[in-house]
Amino acid sequence: MMTLADGTELIDGMSSWWCMIHGYANERLNAAATKQLAQMSHVMFGGLTHEPAIELGKRLLKVAPKSMHNIFYADSGSVAVEVAMKMAVQAAISASGNHKKTNFATIRSGYHGDTWNAMSVCDPVTGMHGAFGEALPVRFFVPQPRSRFDGEWHKEDIEPLRLLLEEKSDEIAALILEPVVQGAGGMWFYHPEYLRQAKALCRQYGILLIFDEIATGFWRTGRFFAWEHANVEPDIMCIGKGLTAGYLTMSAVLTTKDVADTISLGEAGVLMHGPTFMANPLACAIALESLKMLEEKPMPSIIANISGIMAEELAMAKNIRGVNDVRILGSIGVVEMKRNVDVGRFQRECVRQGVWIRPFGRNVYIMPPYIISEQDLRTLCRKLVEIVSDESNY
Ligand SMILES: *Cc1c(COP(=O)(O)O)cnc(C)c1O
Repeated sequence: MMTLADGTELIDGMSSWWCMIHGYANERLNAAATKQLAQMSHVMFGGLTHEPAIELGKRLLKVAPKSMHNIFYADSGSVAVEVAMKMAVQAAISASGNHKKTNFATIRSGYHGDTWNAMSVCDPVTGMHGAFGEALPVRFFVPQPRSRFDGEWHKEDIEPLRLLLEEKSDEIAALILEPVVQGAGGMWFYHPEYLRQAKALCRQYGILLIFDEIATGFWRTGRFFAWEHANVEPDIMCIGKGLTAGYLTMSAVLTTKDVADTISLGEAGVLMHGPTFMANPLACAIALESLKMLEEKPMPSIIANISGIMAEELAMAKNIRGVNDVRILGSIGVVEMKRNVDVGRFQRECVRQGVWIRPFGRNVYIMPPYIISEQDLRTLCRKLVEIVSDESNY
């Protein structure tokens, strides 16, 4: 629930860009922050370490793919993507001796953040490429897989990637993907088989696989991380957003012992990245408490419950004239319209109706905090359906 300056109360459908997973002003998270603040709010993470960082690392490795072995704490999701890309380039050069094996492959309609390299692997049309012209590095894009998450697998979906890697593997350090759920680039849920086949191709052609789990992590899709839907482990993995339950900006990049060792054997001998605020103790302490809460709660049933209610309530949107598609995965509900939504107009109507939803492009979607009550969730969904039913709202 959010309260505006004039006292208007809104049911939050966005979790503040998907990160406030436990809701606002959570007592346990507040207490963890206050306790850590009294002890130490920050200390440099070079030559020094501290308990919150160590404990958080241990807990993250327990929930991460088994093959993950090293953790790098970064400042935000976009920076995590930058770091993952730097890791991939350093590892690729070190392993191959080829200084040209430095480019990236990805799929269309992705979103990986707003910093330079992260931007370069966002969808070139829905992303920001236009505004930055030739300033951005040019990446290899293949079409988005069209096989739906819960539909049939169409084997031609993987062919463009196969052809690209066959031809360009000498130039490509890594393939970067948002596993199963493409977030801000299109809110699309694709078939897990794509990840299995992409992984096999990466192995075959000596290309690293990066999963950007910044949006999908911490149960958003019904699993702790989305790779679990395909049982495919990446070489490098980015997490952020829900990591600190929205309290502070922090992200992390996880990788395998193999990638870490390969980087160590390279020219520089270490990963060339060292942020000032690395492993901020306040952020680590809050993230640690959030992970404990996720462990204590019956998360699979909480998410299944949210999913079930969304499915019931959003089903009727399918019959609305302006609606193209309705899809739900975990605690993500998407109503895709036939044309772009006027965000300003749409949001004014949401506020008038007491809900907080921020569409982009053709997608009107909700990703509520996991603590949302059944009644609030039903109201949120019903208002969404009501607002998209009236074409004057968008
Ligand atoms: C939000 C997001 C990012 C960028 O994270 P910031 O913290 O906003 O920099 C990167 N990748 C994905 C998949 C995201 O959803």
